[in-house]
Amino acid sequence: MPYTFSYCNACKSINKINYQMAQSKRPICGKCSSELNLHRAVTEIDDEGLRKILNKSSLPVVVDFFATWCEPCKMYGPIYEEVSEKFLASVTFVKINTQWNPVMAQSFAVKGIPCTILFKDGHEVKRQAGAMDANSLEAWLKQEIS
Ligand SMILES: [Zn+2]
Repeated sequence: MPYTFSYCNACKSINKINYQMAQSKRPICGKCSSELNLHRAVTEIDDEGLRKILNKSSLPVVVDFFATWCEPCKMYGPIYEEVSEKFLASVTFVKINTQWNPVMAQSFAVKGIPCTILFKDGHEVKRQAGAMDANSLEAWLKQEIS
């Protein structure tokens, strides 16, 4: 099944969702029926959600630390979302708005945005400061994902 993990900002639970079904109708939380904040296969998450998903995801997790005022972030966002569909069932894609959720960005010492960090088993594997194009991001992830 082409699944991905998503996170419900309303009831704070992690959802494993069938990606094809999520594309055909509004993806909702299996627990509380709130709409999931899903953009292609990328879930926009809060500080608590990021902490949770890093602890619990059985897949590697990639995070886009961004802000809405940041021009390179605006350009990078759709690229990140596009690439997310190529890693269903192999990488969990999330993004976090560092303006509203500064805690995790600070704890990982994110200095500039956008900043992409890959985690395995809750630990940082590597990071890339600045935007990447789709091919670069895909290759960057594939180096670590077999
Ligand atoms: Zn929920």
